[in-house]
Amino acid sequence: MKTEVISAKDIKKMSPVFGQLSFQNHEQIVFCNDKDTGLKAIIGIHDTTLGPALGGTRMWQYNNEQDALNDVLRLSRGMSFKSAITGLNLGGGKAVIIGDAKTQKTPQLMLKFGEFVHSLGGRYITAEDVGMATSDMDLVRTVTPYVTGISEQMGGAGNPSPITAYGTFMGMKASAKYAFGNDDLEGKVVYVQGIGNVGEALVEHLSNEGAKVFISDINQGRLEQVRDAYGAEIYTGNNLYSEQMDIYAPCALGATLNDNTVGQLKAKIIAGAANNQLADENKHAEMLREKGIVYAPDFLINAGGIINVYAELENYGRQEIIRKTENIYTTTLEILNKAELEDITTHQAALNIAQARIDARKAEKA
Ligand code: NAD
Repeated sequence: MKTEVISAKDIKKMSPVFGQLSFQNHEQIVFCNDKDTGLKAIIGIHDTTLGPALGGTRMWQYNNEQDALNDVLRLSRGMSFKSAITGLNLGGGKAVIIGDAKTQKTPQLMLKFGEFVHSLGGRYITAEDVGMATSDMDLVRTVTPYVTGISEQMGGAGNPSPITAYGTFMGMKASAKYAFGNDDLEGKVVYVQGIGNVGEALVEHLSNEGAKVFISDINQGRLEQVRDAYGAEIYTGNNLYSEQMDIYAPCALGATLNDNTVGQLKAKIIAGAANNQLADENKHAEMLREKGIVYAPDFLINAGGIINVYAELENYGRQEIIRKTENIYTTTLEILNKAELEDITTHQAALNIAQARIDARKAEKA
């Protein structure tokens, strides 16, 4: 008898959500559609064991719905681990809005999105991500309390990006301590890819410390602004990955560590703020380990933002935000040493600690 072989592609087509490669036992995925405002959004709730699922909203012009779904699944899972490893009582969630934030983001669309968030009764709490500003969160706040990252005028902790950058800087310094025996970044060649809200603030820290900073972005105007403000050099080549550098700091979108790039990388350290930097978290983390490149896990070192927005829920102040964010230095060093000791990737070492905290809470609840 002839056996029918169903290709992986066909299986994915038959179960486009639960069959997604990025689907990892997410608790809930909510598709939001509103004809009047044109809103098309997906909210992903990965795990609520430690608390409500908190994570920002990204507005991006995805090539197709599958890409948007893939992104929200990957991002929301990352948030579970980010909060777990940072010691916050939060679960992992994220939202994506499909569209161009520059031309399609209207107040009506944001309010409608806020209503969808509200309908989840606090299981998901939103904040800003790529394509969002504090003012957008202020608007969402008018229709739901389940939003963070709102302005100080409205009782929030303000824009989380500078704190994210500070935490990333801490993680970078810890990685330098591990790799070079000294955390001073003076004279080190650092490439910052993506100089948006976080990238720009990171460039400022690096410049203050005397690092030699190269910047790249798809937005020429920003490149000139940041160059002029901090004395960074605009990268004019066409393949940043193959350049000689000490540190590569991905601060744009995810998956820049992939089959095409990892082989070319000459950096000694990778430490940046972008979420989900590893296209394939096992394969590419392993490739980096084999090449002897120190990879600071993204979800660990970019946790400053969530520490900042968590302050709005827990009512702690600026000092505590800074203290918790500076602790990223210690945790990063611990993780890098643990990975070496256990002969595993740094990503896996961080994931193991985060998962253990989630599992312990699950066991307590059982
Ligand atoms: P942003 O939108 O302000 O900045 C992103 C920048 O990347 C923009 O200037 C954009 O032009 C640039 N960019 C996009 N594609 C690029 C490419 N191919 N090459 C070079 N540059 C490119 O976003 P942000 O808030 O600065 O966030 C940056 C990254 O950090 C994102 O991955 C985000 O998820 C992550 N992150 C942000 C925070 C936060 O507090 N904002 C917290 C944690 C993680």
